[in-house]
Amino acid sequence: MGTKAFLIDTSKCIACKACQVACKQWNELPAEKTVNQGTFQNPPDLSAVTWTLVRFKEVSNNGKMSWNFFKDQCRHCLEPPCKLSSTVNGSIIQDETGAVIYTKKTRYENFEDIMCPYNIPRQDKNTMALLKCTMCVDRVKNGLLPACVKACPTGTMQFGDRKEMLEKGQKRVEELKPVYEHVSLIDMDDVSVFYLLVDEPEMYGMIRHEDVLSTFA
Ligand code: SF4
Repeated sequence: MGTKAFLIDTSKCIACKACQVACKQWNELPAEKTVNQGTFQNPPDLSAVTWTLVRFKEVSNNGKMSWNFFKDQCRHCLEPPCKLSSTVNGSIIQDETGAVIYTKKTRYENFEDIMCPYNIPRQDKNTMALLKCTMCVDRVKNGLLPACVKACPTGTMQFGDRKEMLEKGQKRVEELKPVYEHVSLIDMDDVSVFYLLVDEPEMYGMIRHEDVLSTFA
């Protein structure tokens, strides 16, 4: 089947959260009780029942307030630090698609010892299992798009063969260069979720893979 990847073009995102809802529907994850924290980011963070989340970052451009959005989720790292730090055989596995899958055996892991540069996995307090995005590998193996990609109404998200997503992302960067000085595709050598950003990663509240990895050294 070959290695797959997501391309997430943040220049097209309108933060409608259709991706969040689709993830919950497909994976039968319940809604969460939440509170208004003075931002449209809702719920406030990922959890055992929220595996993807549109993050909002308020930024000021020439004195004018605006938002930068990005859809946070497991990056399906090519060499996953979470898998490397796992101590339970068969708990964290990597599929032929590149999807990093957490099995029920994750309940035997010591959660504090699992390293993730992006702070993605969450623990179910009842079952103690660790949970996160699965790349919708059950859909992908049946020729379907991940639920979030399918639901996106603006074309922000694409999914397919890694090489094709990379080429599309690089082409889009060239298209946007005359408009956005800081446009870039980040972390594409390390992960299977390519973000196209039109601003510096810090302006989205994001950290680059290489920067966070150094914290584990
Ligand atoms: Fe594992 Fe985190 Fe990488 Fe996902 S983003 S594969 S949880 S290390």
